[in-house]
Amino acid sequence: MTEPIIEITGLCKAFGPLEVLKGIDLTVKRGEVVCIIGPSGSGKSTMLRCVNLLEEPTAGKVVVDGVELTDPDCDIDRARTRVGMVFQGFNLFAHLSVLDNLTIAQRKVLGRPKGDAELVARENLAKVGLGEKAGSMPGQLSGGQQQRVAIARALSMNPEVMLFDEPTSALDPELVGDVLGVMRQLADDGMTMLVVTHEMQFAREVADRVLFMDGGYVVEEGPAEQVIGAPREERTRSFLARVL
Ligand code: ADP
Ligand code: MG
Repeated sequence: MTEPIIEITGLCKAFGPLEVLKGIDLTVKRGEVVCIIGPSGSGKSTMLRCVNLLEEPTAGKVVVDGVELTDPDCDIDRARTRVGMVFQGFNLFAHLSVLDNLTIAQRKVLGRPKGDAELVARENLAKVGLGEKAGSMPGQLSGGQQQRVAIARALSMNPEVMLFDEPTSALDPELVGDVLGVMRQLADDGMTMLVVTHEMQFAREVADRVLFMDGGYVVEEGPAEQVIGAPREERTRSFLARVL
C-alpha cells in the first residue's frame, strides 16, 4: 500500500477564461480508495477527466503507474487503457449485446482474440453479479444493471486504476445499493479507486481518504471520519450541512 500509482502535481485546467482547476496536488497509493466530494461546479469531474486525459491539463503533471500522461510523447491511447472510467450515464452501446459491449474495446484496443475477450468478459460479468445477462441488450436491463455492466466493461481492460464520476447519481434509489455493493467489493479486492460521489455513507465506510473540493482547489482532505465527521474548514461544514 505504499507505492504511489497516481501522482498529480500543480494540475490546472482552464476553459478559455474560466479557471476550473487552480493547482491540484494529489498522490494516490496502490490499493487506496479516495472519495472526492464538493459542490456542483467545483471541478470534480474535470479533475477525474484529467487523470485519463479526456481533458488536457493547462498546466501541471499527471503520472499514472510511472507513465507521465502529460508528456507530449506519451502514447495516450495505450496509457488510457490503464485507467478505467465509469460515468453517471452508463454510455453502453445500445445496439450491442452486453457481451459485445464488454469485448469490443478488448479486441480493438488491446488486440485480444475473440475467445479470450469473451472469457474475460464473462468473468467480469460474474463479478458484478450479472453472469446470466451476457446475451441481453442494454435496453432490457435496469439502470443499476446497466451501470454494473459499465463497471464490468471497464474492468475487462484490466485497469490499474478505476475512476468513478457520480456512478449512482442517475439511478433510482432502490438500485443504488447494488452498484455501491459492487464498488465496495472492488475496493476490498484491492483496486485503486478515485470516486466522485454524494454517497456520504459509502465514503465513510469505504474511503481510505476523502477530499473536499471547492472552487478548483482541494480545500480539505483526510480520513472520512475527520473530513465528513469533524470537518476543519468552514466551506466543508457548510457543504455537508446542505447534503447530509
Ligand atoms: P463538478 O464535477 O464538480 O460539478 P465540473 O468539473 O464538471 O464540476 O465543472 C467545473 C466548471 O467547469 C463548471 O463551471 C463547468 O461549467 C466548467 N466546465 C466543465 N467542462 C467544461 C467544458 N468542456 N467547457 C467549458 N466549461 C466547462
Ligand atoms: Mg461532475
